[in-house]
Amino acid sequence: AVTVDEELLAGLNPQQREAVLYRGPALLIVAGAGSGKTSVLTRRIAGLIASREAWPSQILAITFTNKAAAEMRGRIRELVGSDADGMWISTFHSACVRILRRQAEVMGLKQGFTIYDTADSRALLKRILKELDADTLGFSVAGVANRISKLKNELTDVDLFARQVNMDDPKESAFLELFRRYTQGLRRANALDFDDLIAETVYLFRAFPDVAALYQRRFRHVLVDEYQDTNAAQYALIRELVRPVAPEHVPLDTRMRVGADGGIPAATLTVVGDSDQSIYAFRGADMRNIVEFEQDFPQAKVVLLEQNYRSTQNILDAANAVIGNNFDRVAKNLFTTGGAGERIVGYTGYSAHDEAQFVADEIEALKKAGETYDDVAVFVRTNAQTRPLEEIFIRSAIPYRIPGGTKFYERAEIKDAMAYLIQIANPDDDLALRRVMNVPRRGIGPATEAALQAHAERTGQTLRDAMRDAASLGLGAKVTGAILDLAKLLDDVAATAATAAPADILNTLLQQTGYLAGLRASGDAQDEARAENLEELVAQTREFRRQTPEGNLVDFLTGVALFAAADEIDDEDGSVSIMTLHTAKGLEYDAVFLTGVEEELLPHRISSGEPGGIAEERRLFYVGITRARKRLYVSLSMTRSLFGEPSVAMPSRFLQEIPASLIDWKQSPGDAAGRNAMRPRAVTSREGGRPKFSYSTSFPSDRPKKEWTSAVTATVRDNGDLTLAVGDRIRHTDFGEGRVTDVTGTGSKSIAEVQFDTAGRKRLLIKIAPIEKL
Ligand code: ATP
Ligand code: MG
Repeated sequence: AVTVDEELLAGLNPQQREAVLYRGPALLIVAGAGSGKTSVLTRRIAGLIASREAWPSQILAITFTNKAAAEMRGRIRELVGSDADGMWISTFHSACVRILRRQAEVMGLKQGFTIYDTADSRALLKRILKELDADTLGFSVAGVANRISKLKNELTDVDLFARQVNMDDPKESAFLELFRRYTQGLRRANALDFDDLIAETVYLFRAFPDVAALYQRRFRHVLVDEYQDTNAAQYALIRELVRPVAPEHVPLDTRMRVGADGGIPAATLTVVGDSDQSIYAFRGADMRNIVEFEQDFPQAKVVLLEQNYRSTQNILDAANAVIGNNFDRVAKNLFTTGGAGERIVGYTGYSAHDEAQFVADEIEALKKAGETYDDVAVFVRTNAQTRPLEEIFIRSAIPYRIPGGTKFYERAEIKDAMAYLIQIANPDDDLALRRVMNVPRRGIGPATEAALQAHAERTGQTLRDAMRDAASLGLGAKVTGAILDLAKLLDDVAATAATAAPADILNTLLQQTGYLAGLRASGDAQDEARAENLEELVAQTREFRRQTPEGNLVDFLTGVALFAAADEIDDEDGSVSIMTLHTAKGLEYDAVFLTGVEEELLPHRISSGEPGGIAEERRLFYVGITRARKRLYVSLSMTRSLFGEPSVAMPSRFLQEIPASLIDWKQSPGDAAGRNAMRPRAVTSREGGRPKFSYSTSFPSDRPKKEWTSAVTATVRDNGDLTLAVGDRIRHTDFGEGRVTDVTGTGSKSIAEVQFDTAGRKRLLIKIAPIEKL
């Protein structure tokens, strides 16, 4: 038996305790949302360290985001003191980068390899598609990128694919060629894409058992949170890490416990997850990993946690009811001893703005009641939904932030600066160099670039090498001078890069290239803003060095490359978070708004064609519901501009799955029954499996009429076959009179563009807009 300080176990229920204290080769903790999975994992690590069963350096814990990793580390430090340093707590990607940087040479990579983000990968693919004229075969960059990503997540590299592909199929053999060139392109640039980070680490371990043994010996305890969202490559990686170390890979002087055969037993593996929260199938996540854990690890101990510590019973009842509609799952029933709590509040808006106004009003009411903005989150299914929310929040002076929405690193000037830095760290990265070769303008035009490129290809050098040969290429004297100057600058800075502070490197580049001065001198307000952004980047590099005193340029670039939306969430900056449901995983808030709960959006339209698509969307809805501690709001809008077209939105089928008694529909209190007048009506028929809904149209008489006018006209209104033509004059109940300037679409989807006399230009769905022809 292990002795773990009672202090570390304080407040845990018996199952949680068992999960913290169990010692054995494999442990699976399966449990519904909010039952303390992440907390238990954290305490388990603290227990291992506090009881001296493991050194911090023998722990490898995998979290889903960098932010979750930082939180876990902080929590463990609180529990066991500063001992926690030396632990590896990180995402799969960060852990793999760390391993690959250290082992780069074994893999034929250089230590400063670039990590290509999605945009970089696509830029490379675009070039290749063009080279091969592949778009004429019907290939799209996104399509090829997705397929390659999927193959890599299944550990199918280009060689394996070549053995499987049907070469008689011209499209398949063309795809193979694209895949091959893409792989070569990355290699030549000394770059890896996101999917490579995992797959290459697996290949590294498989090809070099002695390297694998280094990590198998080091990590004695491997723990994985959110295990339901691991994909095949991540699964393989875990398997490689928890193998026993064969005697021939055990160094003679090891102080480790050696088994009877002279080897070292496998590390222990602890995984925690909830198959009801598996929401990353599109990235290759495979629920089977958790479902089949007991088959994979027959000695595994399984602990179930059922008590929920996060939400009220009403919220849990809704969550249980919704997820109960999924088949093929282990029935779980979340419960709390914390009481029923408030009922869920529902709202049906006339428009997305109306819905957003409801959200804003409720947030203000919560704030007045003592809630802080930090403890409120608004969830959306797609990024496009944030626009109306932002507009209304700005108007209502509600501070908000959208993690991943700032796109700081996508700004052109930031990308330029980053390209300089990347080129310093990785001279093989031609893509980065091409980006800044003529930025700021130094007279190196496309023709010169092509000449350099041709020289590089002829001589098998990088573009950077080719620049040093500029004098021999018969270019003009001036442009030759410019090229040599740039090459010298890059070489000089690169010479210091291994140790210099990233801020100094960046500053030198921005000054010496004249980039910053150029922006300053232009007198253009936009350029001034760009210069400020660059200063912000310099500030970030300084901050990085403050937090990681030893961190060099490569470390900084790695951090930027692996920075994800979820990492941007700040719990204490006094603002409401607006985020996608995917980003919300693992988080919790006092009050949660689930917006846009409509057919086509949640479930999303792309899901309906996919096998298991609806079930996955339902899990997403379930993840959303279970983020709420005290209050949950569900809202939708009767109309929404989706995919560029305004259209009538139908309530999501998932709303029907929440027991009616749990929701108060706020939009229309006061019908005959006293409630729920605006509750979307029950299913009236099923066509092709899709429930049909209708809106109730009885409105309370005790409310001022005007308040309801727009909603009522929107619901009962059906303009039938009203046709409009350019030049027609119409009257709109809200916008007054106007003239039709354009009509597009057909039938019930016809849209009129109307120039109103006073209300400006609007686009209206003719069938339902509250309009009449004059
Ligand atoms: P998710 O499925 O959303 O990832 P989870 O199972 O990881 O959830 P946690 O985030 O660990 O759950 O815990 C949910 C909340 O319950 C947290 O606020 C946590 O502090 C609290 N909690 C967990 N266990 C206990 C306990 N025994 N007593 C009191 N609070 C607890
Ligand atoms: Mg968790």
